Amino acid sequence: ITIGEALVRAADRWGARDALVSVAQGVRWSFAELLARADSLAAGLLGLGLAPGDRIGIWSPNCAEWTLTQFAAARAGLILVTINPAYQLSEAEFTINLVGLKALVAAERFKTSAYLEMIEALAPELVESEPGRLVAARLPTLRAAIRIGGSPRPGWLAFDDIAAIRPGARAELDRLAATLDPGDPINIQFTSGTTGLPKGATLSHRNILNNGYFVGRGMALAPDDRICIPVPLYHCFGMVMGNLASITHGAAMVYPAAAFDPGAVLAAVEAERCTALYGVPTMFIAVLAHPEFARFDLTSLRTGCMAGAVCPEPLMRDVIARLHMRDVTIGYGMTETSPVSFQTGLGDSLDRRVDSIGRVLPHLECKVIDGEGATLPAGQPGELCTRGYSVMLGYWNDRERTADAIDADGWMHSGDLATIDAEGYGRIVGRIKDVVIRGGENIYPREIEDFLLSHPAIEDVAVVGVPDARMGEELCAWIRLRLGASGDEAAVRAFCKGRIAHYKIPRHIHFVDAFPTTVTGKIQKFMIREAMVAELG
Ligand code: ATP
Ligand code: MG
Repeated sequence: ITIGEALVRAADRWGARDALVSVAQGVRWSFAELLARADSLAAGLLGLGLAPGDRIGIWSPNCAEWTLTQFAAARAGLILVTINPAYQLSEAEFTINLVGLKALVAAERFKTSAYLEMIEALAPELVESEPGRLVAARLPTLRAAIRIGGSPRPGWLAFDDIAAIRPGARAELDRLAATLDPGDPINIQFTSGTTGLPKGATLSHRNILNNGYFVGRGMALAPDDRICIPVPLYHCFGMVMGNLASITHGAAMVYPAAAFDPGAVLAAVEAERCTALYGVPTMFIAVLAHPEFARFDLTSLRTGCMAGAVCPEPLMRDVIARLHMRDVTIGYGMTETSPVSFQTGLGDSLDRRVDSIGRVLPHLECKVIDGEGATLPAGQPGELCTRGYSVMLGYWNDRERTADAIDADGWMHSGDLATIDAEGYGRIVGRIKDVVIRGGENIYPREIEDFLLSHPAIEDVAVVGVPDARMGEELCAWIRLRLGASGDEAAVRAFCKGRIAHYKIPRHIHFVDAFPTTVTGKIQKFMIREAMVAELG
């Protein structure tokens, strides 16, 4: 079925139950209300002249309108393009033109970024144009600019006007639904940009709806569950593992007052009695380290998903003991596979949940291959590949890179170095490209990061290779200490000495308060490398 049909089923089965709670906005919509609003918005968008297959962009931090746009686009067959809230002018221009956006829904602002002003700077024609009939030189495909909130502005359409409840909308959309196919593209989702420029993965209803369902099943989600979603909706983590798991299991989506804000997460979990919490490890670290942590009642929590990066053991222990998330799962995946392909099971031991990424999800296949493409036996490290319903249709308008990523037999090559043991449990060892070659010796930074994280004073760490005239590359560690902990370079060296090989002891050690991260909270090593290159000259 399509995402739109899944929403109709949710409204039929769980109509009066909470579907969406947005704390900052005071929004609380039932599944029936969510469907009615999504249909009204969908009818409004079709009324603007948009047709199935057209691209519509959403550029906004998490909010109720974001999700409404997601489901309205799905009901109308419009391809939703999720634009990174951190983007600036030139990145927005690049993305809008890459996918040929016909309509853009934008929030007024996020942090210091004024989205409406940025769009007006890119398309000065907007303020002179009749709303919905834009013709702009630098954004040639864009016809309609729609603002969420704010006061009237020339050229802009108001979201609330287009979304105004239309009584006949459901019938109109039900007719349209019959013409949509689950294999159609419905979303263009950009990769995080951890290793470089983000790539636009084109995903179908079948890709992401099934993935949301199976990830939710892996946590045994049910209509009584309430998922706290502090992760960005613009990424699969929020919109698939959050929103689509919700509509396929009848669980509520709860958006804290501010995304990625530990205090707001704690407050939302307590006030909404959330049973599940999502995040990357860095966010869980921040939540646990919040100065007022002890003040909150978090006993409603049961499960959740930690994904995107490796979870250190002490963190897993804390998440289970102090956050009460006894059924927390670890997920592994990538944007190109909708995203999750491995997940730990509810019955898995603590060791499994720390040491592995669980087993491959139902209806997906996986294998580990060597440099020549031959499948390796259990336990041997190589490139992890996945095949099945969740593999993207391709990178938008990029045959070449698509062919590099998905081979002729349909296997998606992850670029991740992994092992799979005899029982099927996977383990991520590092990124194939994240290898430092120091004097001819291959060193995987992951190994050194894991080691340094075992030091009680170290809260987070990133190890990168920096150019070195003598050795080719040298290791550099950026370290963030735990609140109130003390440590210096000499102490770190003393800790390493005799515990890891001398050549694995980082040559450069820096203490930092924060790391450069993607909006999903992943450390961007290429930024650290650039900073070090600038510093070392
Ligand atoms: P880009 O492809 O633009 O460089 P990215 O690969 O970080 O960025 P995503 O698709 O958001 O973009 O992330 C997928 C990657 O995240 C995986 O390929 C893997 O390296 C990493 N990852 C995801 N989950 C886990 C996990 N549980 N443990 C370790 N690494 C993980
Ligand atoms: Mg990637």
